[in-house]
Amino acid sequence: MSPGRGAPLDPDGTVAVVGGCLAGLRAAEGLRRGGFRGRLVVVGAEAHPPYDRPPLSKQVLTGAWEPGRATLKDEAGLAELGIEARLGRAAVSFDADVRRLELDDGTTLIADGVVLATGAIPRRPFAEEGVLALRTLEDCAAIREALARAGLEGHLVVIGAGFIGSEVAAAAAGLGLRVTVVEALPVPLAPAVGEVVGAALGRLHEHHGVALRTGVGVTAVRRDGSTVLELADGSTLKADVVVAGVGVVPQTGWLEGSGLTLGNGVVCDQALFAADGVVGAGDVACFPFRGEQVRIEHWQMAADMGAAAAEALLAGRAAAPRFNPVPYFWSDQYQEKVQMLGRPGPGDEVVVVDGNLDGRFVALYRDGSRLGAALALSRPRQLMAFRPLLQREASFDDALEVAASFG
Ligand SMILES: Cc1cc2nc3c(=O)[nH]c(=O)nc-3n(C[C@H](O)[C@H](O)[C@H](O)COP(=O)(O)OP(=O)(O)OC[C@H]3O[C@@H](n4cnc5c(N)ncnc54)[C@H](O)[C@@H]3O)c2cc1C
Repeated sequence: MSPGRGAPLDPDGTVAVVGGCLAGLRAAEGLRRGGFRGRLVVVGAEAHPPYDRPPLSKQVLTGAWEPGRATLKDEAGLAELGIEARLGRAAVSFDADVRRLELDDGTTLIADGVVLATGAIPRRPFAEEGVLALRTLEDCAAIREALARAGLEGHLVVIGAGFIGSEVAAAAAGLGLRVTVVEALPVPLAPAVGEVVGAALGRLHEHHGVALRTGVGVTAVRRDGSTVLELADGSTLKADVVVAGVGVVPQTGWLEGSGLTLGNGVVCDQALFAADGVVGAGDVACFPFRGEQVRIEHWQMAADMGAAAAEALLAGRAAAPRFNPVPYFWSDQYQEKVQMLGRPGPGDEVVVVDGNLDGRFVALYRDGSRLGAALALSRPRQLMAFRPLLQREASFDDALEVAASFG
């Protein structure tokens, strides 16, 4: 059944995709597009057909969309692709040598190719004290209900001024609640976008009447009637609803003992192979990018990795192309859109080439003589001009020339 090492996938064989959301769906679609005719099983721990997470901190959270609008592909669509969907079923173990999966109903599945796309789960600090976190449709419904119960007089405290925390804050402020964001770092988002831009993004909250407390962590949460947060500086905050947005961990627990290398997620090579016939995609997988092994939790990355993982699996390890993406993410907060291309390094110099940091702007990141990344606040057209430059690893001077053309 199994082809030789590194050989192309048998187009009439069996593929199992583990994880039934964005990366898994894009992989399944890519396999069919690439001519895979065989048995295609998608195992998804959630009972829902594949859905999109970004609207959960935006349109679905505010009520502008019914939750169903976040569906990426319904069951009929999966059937049209000839996908055998095992939804509400988790894989509990894997043997990478023989590509054997065991599911939580005790069934097993041996496949010629396996796509690992099990995503990530949020850290849930103070969950027992009622602090909520946001990843799934159910999480979103729970936060919506809690905000509705709190009403317009209610106070939401968000722990963590990362992108998801910031979007939840913006959505709740838009609904009319009083909102405070507590961030342990002195500057929000500094590890992701640097201090200068992080400070500018932090000011967005303040411009919209949301209080931002930086450089102070939450040390305890008490529930006595209402919820009280104790902060590291000795102060307290009373809240009606508390949501934590303090990062995620890759879902690799079920892969312990699989024979795969697990580090910051499933460790994949430059073509996304974790082992022969086994590829990783999306939030669960890390891959080599500019000299380091990275795991990038963005929508576009999960979609691109899913498609690339399918292509790699079809081609086989010996012939698969290198996965060489331009990372991209967006975040909608208040009426603004934050977008970033590339991946800034910690030592990058930031140069604002359009607008200014107190309003809308485009900032470029200089990595030595190269353009490392570009970030824009509500300047989508200008930002996209830098995509081809990042793709060809252009010099910073070339990027400045493009910026000069904005006039
Ligand atoms: C609220 C929210 C808002 C976001 N907004 C943005 C945004 O504005 N812009 C942006 O760029 N990115 C955004 N993201 C990030 C983006 O949505 C993720 O990067 C993307 O969803 C990752 O897709 P994935 O398929 O890798 O993982 P997931 O979407 O996590 O899917 C993995 C699936 O695998 C399932 N699974 C886990 N373990 C098993 C198992 N053992 N067996 C079977 N199934 C299993 C999980 O239940 C899950 O359904 C947001 C994320 C969230 C949570």
